[in-house]
Amino acid sequence: MEISVRLAASTQRKTKPADESTLGFGRIFSDHMFLMEYAEGKGWRDARIAPYGQLSLDPAAMVLHYGQEIFEGLKAYRGAGDSICLFRPRMNFERFNRSAARLCMPTIPEDDQVEAVSALLRVDKDWIPRSRGTSLYIRPVMIATEPGLGVRSAGRYLFFIITGPVGNYYPRGFEPVRILVEEEYVRAAVGGLGEAKTGANYAASLLAAKKAKEKGFDQVLWLDAARREVIEEVGTMNIFFVIGDELVTPPLAGSILPGVTRDSVLRVARDWRWKVSERPIGMEEVRRSAANGTLREVFGAGTAAVISPVGALNYQGEEFTVGGGKVGEMARRLFDEITGIQYGEIPDRHGWIHKVT
Ligand SMILES: *Cc1c(COP(=O)(O)O)cnc(C)c1O
Repeated sequence: MEISVRLAASTQRKTKPADESTLGFGRIFSDHMFLMEYAEGKGWRDARIAPYGQLSLDPAAMVLHYGQEIFEGLKAYRGAGDSICLFRPRMNFERFNRSAARLCMPTIPEDDQVEAVSALLRVDKDWIPRSRGTSLYIRPVMIATEPGLGVRSAGRYLFFIITGPVGNYYPRGFEPVRILVEEEYVRAAVGGLGEAKTGANYAASLLAAKKAKEKGFDQVLWLDAARREVIEEVGTMNIFFVIGDELVTPPLAGSILPGVTRDSVLRVARDWRWKVSERPIGMEEVRRSAANGTLREVFGAGTAAVISPVGALNYQGEEFTVGGGKVGEMARRLFDEITGIQYGEIPDRHGWIHKVT
């Protein structure tokens, strides 16, 4: 892939945040972005790095009407010896291509996606923050740009990548979240878009999240669309339970997002010879194990937080405290192991670290 580079003029460059402890998430963007366009019959063309800036879209662009959009989320870390590292990027790009296929969009060879991200990181490497726990968040996106209001898949697309520094998710240590088990709304149904990383799933989730926040909860736990009984995901993360000595997570059965973090947690836990199950788990089992004292831990897993301990679950008006309200041992160990690998402090046994420079 040929990538042309047009650098931002010094007057266009933004001031980098001086205080890395207040970066937050998704509010600051670096100086450049990657772009390329697709046209049916012609393929992907005009790969380029340009100054970060506005996009120009036809108001009839299909993405604006029928939601043909997919995205990814991964991070670049400063590893050992000031190297720039990505964590299992191929898993993100393979998933991106599966999302593309589900939404009738063109795929992009994984090698080209790695090359695009790497080229962008080389240009904006000074935007990668340095303190432990911080990183540069990378957001690849594809949208349908062809103008037209007829309902069909588009013939023209834009792929772009933006990046921005993000802070340590836990500046004051783990903060367990309180979760509302959602019984009215659903995120996705088997056969729908649940397995794809697409804006549509997020649009579907907003109202439940808003109502849960109004009631004082941090996130919602999604149940299956058909019966509102089997557990799917928590907010925008995959979910894990520790019941007795078993680590349980719902199987990838068509309606949940196959997380890179989920896969990494399973791999590490199996390396450690923990008892690990990918099996359906329902609210009745959670209620029972909370009542008999075997529900030891609940935590979410996703790129942003890596591990997010759940302190309490509220189901049908009943509140279940998890692990006596304290952060679980397994959550902490998994967090330390995975972030240790990401920051180059723990040997990379599985070849998960992709060095950019
Ligand atoms: C991105 C995402 C996850 C987590 O995936 P990771 O690859 O671990 O970041 C989980 N659930 C949903 C709905 C997501 O969009």
